[in-house]
Amino acid sequence: MHAVVCLKQVPDTTEVKIDPSTGTLVRAGVPSIVNPYDAHALEAALRLKDQFGGKVTVVSMGPPQASQALKKAVSLGADEAILLTDRVFAGSDTLATSYILTQALLKLAEKDPIDVVFCGKMAIDGDTGQVGPGIATRLDYEQLTYVSDIGKLDAEKREITVWRALGDGKEQVKTRLPALLTVTDEVNDVRYGSFPDQVRAARYEPITWTKDDLHLDLARCGLKGSPTTVSKVFTPQARVKRQTDLIPDGLEKPGEAAEAMAAKLFGLPPVKKGIAEGRALAKEVAGR
Ligand SMILES: Cc1cc2nc3c(=O)[nH]c(=O)nc-3n(C[C@H](O)[C@H](O)[C@H](O)COP(=O)(O)OP(=O)(O)OC[C@H]3O[C@@H](n4cnc5c(N)ncnc54)[C@H](O)[C@@H]3O)c2cc1C
Repeated sequence: MHAVVCLKQVPDTTEVKIDPSTGTLVRAGVPSIVNPYDAHALEAALRLKDQFGGKVTVVSMGPPQASQALKKAVSLGADEAILLTDRVFAGSDTLATSYILTQALLKLAEKDPIDVVFCGKMAIDGDTGQVGPGIATRLDYEQLTYVSDIGKLDAEKREITVWRALGDGKEQVKTRLPALLTVTDEVNDVRYGSFPDQVRAARYEPITWTKDDLHLDLARCGLKGSPTTVSKVFTPQARVKRQTDLIPDGLEKPGEAAEAMAAKLFGLPPVKKGIAEGRALAKEVAGR
């Protein structure tokens, strides 16, 4: 079984900043992580290897520092990691990204035919969810998107059965191999790497492929091959914290806060005052 995982290194989204003058992501000094959905994609591939043997290859297109994400994949159990990096690839939109990844997968398949390709359902920075289906279409593989459970893989019949997450339910789908799956984070729990794999990863250097290693039409790569135009990138304004004067600041006891709120809403007197007034009224009534 040869499973290939497409894995993207993404900025840790809680830390993303946008340069207001250029409208582009400020990547310098921003910590990078493996796209979380891709960690689940890798886990799914590793489970197939645990069950059927074979190998797991991880592929990432990105700048040289994306090799860190690949080393992380090796520390979790991936056998081989390929970094696609070249200046010509910079600025690729989803069309160009899926084209370049497809050409890399075709090269891999020449040596070791591929049974399953795993992708995340989306990258948390680009967020389009287009790259997986883009690769499946180009490779003419069956595509199963939003996979939330891998039911069964029948290696003899070369069939895979999965559950797909729909907005309001799940559907079970069976198809033939080779297939490309995009997975959600429900599909599995990601493992911790074993000690031997971590040691291996520390010494491992991913294989690097540049434009010269692939059969590429350079007009379909990078900015040249990217028809998408980003007209504007901006950080939405932080929501204004809603002010409320129902409960004045400084009232920590729930009773006091409730009294203050009742007074504002219904013009009710504070409870103690209300009780005192009530007693006086009761006495007066009793004395009549
Ligand atoms: C004009 C333009 C210029 C851009 N320039 C850059 C740039 O210079 N640098 C940059 O990082 N982004 C750039 N982008 C963003 C880039 O297009 C997307 O990040 C990329 O195409 C993937 O799309 P996505 O993030 O929406 O992935 P999705 O389609 O949401 O990803 C789905 C899955 O596909 C796989 N995948 C996606 N991207 C990769 C990858 N690179 N390697 C391996 N697997 C992957 C993963 O399994 C992922 O979970 C640019 C976009 C545009 C429109």
